[in-house]
Amino acid sequence: MAIICVTFPSCYMENTARNIKKDSQISATKKLQSIDFNHIWHPFTQADQWFDADPLIVEKAEAMYLIDCEGNRYLDGISSLWCNVHGHSHPEFLAAGHRQLDELMHSTLLGLTHRPIIECTERLVELLPGGLSRVFYSDSGTSAVEAGLRISLEWWQKQSSSLAKIKTQLASLQGAYHGDTLGAVGIGYLDFFHGALSSNVVQSNRVRPPHIFRFEQGLSEEQALARSIAELEDFFVSRHETLAGFFVEPIVQGAAGIWIHPPEYLAAIARFCRKYSVHLIVDEVATGFGKSGKLFACELADLEPDILIMGKGLSGGYLPISAAACTEELFEGFRGKPSEGKTFFYGQTFAGNPLAARFAEVNLRIFQESSLLGDVASKIDYFGKLIEDKIENLSHVDEVRRAGLMTGIELTAAPGQRQPFEIDREIGVKITRAARKKGVVIRPLGNVIILMPALAMSNEELETLVSVTAAAIDEVCS
Ligand SMILES: *Cc1c(COP(=O)(O)O)cnc(C)c1O
Repeated sequence: MAIICVTFPSCYMENTARNIKKDSQISATKKLQSIDFNHIWHPFTQADQWFDADPLIVEKAEAMYLIDCEGNRYLDGISSLWCNVHGHSHPEFLAAGHRQLDELMHSTLLGLTHRPIIECTERLVELLPGGLSRVFYSDSGTSAVEAGLRISLEWWQKQSSSLAKIKTQLASLQGAYHGDTLGAVGIGYLDFFHGALSSNVVQSNRVRPPHIFRFEQGLSEEQALARSIAELEDFFVSRHETLAGFFVEPIVQGAAGIWIHPPEYLAAIARFCRKYSVHLIVDEVATGFGKSGKLFACELADLEPDILIMGKGLSGGYLPISAAACTEELFEGFRGKPSEGKTFFYGQTFAGNPLAARFAEVNLRIFQESSLLGDVASKIDYFGKLIEDKIENLSHVDEVRRAGLMTGIELTAAPGQRQPFEIDREIGVKITRAARKKGVVIRPLGNVIILMPALAMSNEELETLVSVTAAAIDEVCS
């Protein structure tokens, strides 16, 4: 087989900072780059765009900074895809991780258990919203979402009443994202991403949250809330008999571009779920672990879910581990003699991996023992003021949506009129590249620039993040 080595246009010869680098270092970087370009298929990435610029090859990370293989430092403005909580290479994680490495790196939760997962769970159940006392572990946000939907659907089937057995449907909100396996895509289906799979996906029933009315019909916030609650009620009245569970990302729809749900809307979903016996399943994979200002965003709307899904930040963002926390009532539905067919036949090889579980335990310990969560309100205020001062008035910024530290900056091609840039102008990617030249890593979602700083980011670093983002938007858009 011939190995085709593509040579890509490279900009680093013109880069004066890099000219002084030793030839050997440049050629070592080029070698890594060419292996990547020739052999790696990057998720959610258009290869033609990827080949267009030198990749940032991350080699190390310290606190809020990613460090590339030539020693350049970049502020991590997206907390390594919305995961990192306390900063990279945090000493408490390193110490606990080293001890755990020496003791046990992997053993299974299928038929066995282990110390780190038990110690992690002891802390988790103390911190979870009321009623959630039974934790099912997995290894990614998506696979915990799948666990949640399977638990809900199977629970109804394992009930004895024939009325329960007709509850075979799921519901979710338009604009939702719940992960990327086909089950998760069913509740988060978006034509732009999943159109090619439309005949393979079992789509959930979709309800329109307030922002859809606001955005598509130009309604005010109050009108949009009233319309969406009215639609929600009609939906429950007509469909509840067949409805098993209702999925929602509490407070913020993340991957749709940071769209905010008013707490009243979430409270209405919870009310109808109770009234009509439908499981309330909250996907806190993005919102969990402090980014909303609370440990879990459902606390902002006083939700008491039947299932709460966690992922990204559970290990402090260090290693893959996720969970679906459930009520005891749901767990009870799966108990019985082996012959009764009630066992939950679902799980992953690396579910609840010991090293990841140790990091989750350290993450939860820091939340319990430090002032991090208590200090976050003033940090969120400060961050909000920076955004007001430096970003909201830029001419190509149409709207900034923010809940806690989670921020989406919606760009417009025509100031004053809501009009997205044409996709092939690659505005988001260009802004990302401009920010990177100034030492900051951010990532767009289409026409929306996302800022997702780690909870522990300092005010000074937040200021750098916002100033550089503003400069990059200005440079590319005007
Ligand atoms: C990221 C995300 C997921 C998927 O998690 P993975 O770990 O990428 O599988 C699911 N739901 C929400 C809300 C997310 O933000």
